[in-house]
Amino acid sequence: MGIYGHRPTHIGMRADILVVGGGPAGCFLAGSLAKRGFDVVVVEEHPEIGKPVSCTGLVGVRGMREVGLKIENFALNELEGGIIVSPSSEILELSRGRVEALVIDRAALDRSLGERAEEWGARIFRNTKCVGVKIEDEPTAYVKGKSSGEIKSELLVGADGPTSLVAKKTGLVNKREFVKCAQTEVSMEARENMVEVYLGQRIAPGFFAWVVPTGETVRIGLGTRRGSPIPKLYSFLKSPPIANRLKGKPGRVSVGLIPLTPPRSIHSNRVLLVGDAACQVKPLTGGGIYFGLSCAKIASWTIAEVLGGKGKLKDYARRVERKFGLEFKIGRRVRRIFEELPDEGIDELVRIFGNPTVREAVLKHADFDHHLRSLRGLVRRTPLIIGSISVRKFVRTILGSLLNV
Ligand SMILES: Cc1cc2nc3c(=O)[nH]c(=O)nc-3n(C[C@H](O)[C@H](O)[C@H](O)COP(=O)(O)OP(=O)(O)OC[C@H]3O[C@@H](n4cnc5c(N)ncnc54)[C@H](O)[C@@H]3O)c2cc1C
Repeated sequence: MGIYGHRPTHIGMRADILVVGGGPAGCFLAGSLAKRGFDVVVVEEHPEIGKPVSCTGLVGVRGMREVGLKIENFALNELEGGIIVSPSSEILELSRGRVEALVIDRAALDRSLGERAEEWGARIFRNTKCVGVKIEDEPTAYVKGKSSGEIKSELLVGADGPTSLVAKKTGLVNKREFVKCAQTEVSMEARENMVEVYLGQRIAPGFFAWVVPTGETVRIGLGTRRGSPIPKLYSFLKSPPIANRLKGKPGRVSVGLIPLTPPRSIHSNRVLLVGDAACQVKPLTGGGIYFGLSCAKIASWTIAEVLGGKGKLKDYARRVERKFGLEFKIGRRVRRIFEELPDEGIDELVRIFGNPTVREAVLKHADFDHHLRSLRGLVRRTPLIIGSISVRKFVRTILGSLLNV
């Protein structure tokens, strides 16, 4: 008997493209390649696409439109801005009074992407885990579970998340670093259309904690660079700004990883990586749904060219670099500075951003998905910003931290 309680079906097959991982990036890519007429197989280790969920489900409206998804179909709530709380409880409210992001039913999104891929002809093997990969003349993946055996393909795609086996087995990653996250859902008094973000090395070392209203409940979570996130989440739930507003017992705690270190390359001979496996996430917040889907779209048309004999896999890396390269590079640098910033520095930053001129500049240039655009807008207005706060304060907080890293 197989590990799933029934005799596994033996498979020995070939496909044009084998996608390891049936998350949003893998299913989206599989669907768009199947729609182009390719024979696509997806293997997903879990019995159901979309479950278990370890995600807050916050997505920008513009980004989802750009990738061509009717994201409203999965929306639970609309968000207009954020309330940022500094370690010493300084509060900064940022909102333009219009809907910027949606909280979605993440399981439903993934499920729908999986169903769409199957409607277009992709074959999804659920309960089937990829346990090994060999790239010689052609990529071969070894799978176990409900279906066991080997699958050969023209091209192998690693869409298998932050701890990607495909990336590891093909030598595309060396060392990996993560933000470790824990999240729960609970009934709580909260502003209906505002996200709350809590900063501080004590609450969430090197990252942040969040409260995201879904309409009926809130999703409370945190990420940390140091130690386990679960005890930190429980301490956060017991802290006064949260405990006093809870209206029920928190539900199940889910845990997950946000990748921080990009692979050496996102492709090699007949292999490419997409989504979290390729570290295609927003460096500052870890949000990866939009970036993963957008890169899957680029992967889809590149693969179609390559299998049609008209392009090279390195075009995928080049196109991703052109679209998101600078965003990743600058974002990762800024995140490293923030990770090390002591609580006094974070307090000072929140105070600076609370200055009316700076706040106005932030609101003018804020972009939910493209943080580089926001940073560029701020940099362009640096003289104005420095003019409106004390130069000493600016140098001490921003440049001081820069020099310390
Ligand atoms: C707590 C938390 C909150 C988050 N909140 C947000 C948010 O609000 N907004 C946002 O945009 N992003 C958020 N993210 C990030 C987001 O969840 C990811 O960026 C996104 O899921 C990446 O999609 P993916 O398809 O690349 O990978 P995944 O969603 O990780 O999917 C990979 C799939 O591969 C399967 N798999 C893995 N290994 C194998 C194997 N060997 N064989 C077969 N199958 C395998 C897994 O079961 C999984 O289904 C959050 C992440 C965490 C941890």
